[in-house]
Amino acid sequence: MTRRLAELTWPEVAAAVAAGATTVILPLGATEQHGPHLPLGTDTIRAVALADRVAARLPMALIAPTLPVGCSDEHAGFPGLLSLDAATLAGVIVDCARRMVTWGVRRLVVLSAHGGNATALVLAAERLRDELPALTLWLPTALLELDATVLAVAASEAITPTQLGLHAGEGETSEVLALCPALVRREAAEAGYCGEFAAILPTLRTLGLQAVTPNGVLGDPTVADAARGARYLDAYATALAEELNAL
Ligand SMILES: [Zn+2]
Repeated sequence: MTRRLAELTWPEVAAAVAAGATTVILPLGATEQHGPHLPLGTDTIRAVALADRVAARLPMALIAPTLPVGCSDEHAGFPGLLSLDAATLAGVIVDCARRMVTWGVRRLVVLSAHGGNATALVLAAERLRDELPALTLWLPTALLELDATVLAVAASEAITPTQLGLHAGEGETSEVLALCPALVRREAAEAGYCGEFAAILPTLRTLGLQAVTPNGVLGDPTVADAARGARYLDAYATALAEELNAL
């Protein structure tokens, strides 16, 4: 049976929870530029795919609908942007969690496919600890470790961290090629900023991407590959599920 809440009926949810499905995965996406070659919903597409892959590796978990708008103001200046204030996104997460506990959810896994949501996640975690102490919140905090999983796949296929990229580079482009190839404008793909990422992080935080990359890309999407994209998703989902299953 599907694990997706939006595809289940209420008696099916009741039966699943009674059988032990008390973990809900809430995927967070975004609507923001992803270079001249990827759709604005790239993070939403990736969040849906990641949630499906993580859920498939857990004994019992339900998947909430993916939130398609996140905190993306670092992409200001690029057309198409939709964004929430961090407090708004935190409020949405807390409000949904409050309803989940009424029908038996005990653990909430928030899977964010977008780095800009970090502040909102911290806010949501603080509020949930105070307001819903019976609910266990799990955020993939070991992001560096998990990124290492993806980096390892890249390294094994001669893709450098700079090509893999932080945004709309080889990594995300390979993943969307694996998931929705018709949405990738390969002919428009071009390298963006390909220098040291650590050097530009302060600028990204204060001035946004437009200050460092006119085309919106951090990385090199021209070397993307669909099969590798599937391997990134599987490696990342496996690492997340291993952590979750170990709790
Ligand atoms: Zn993205």
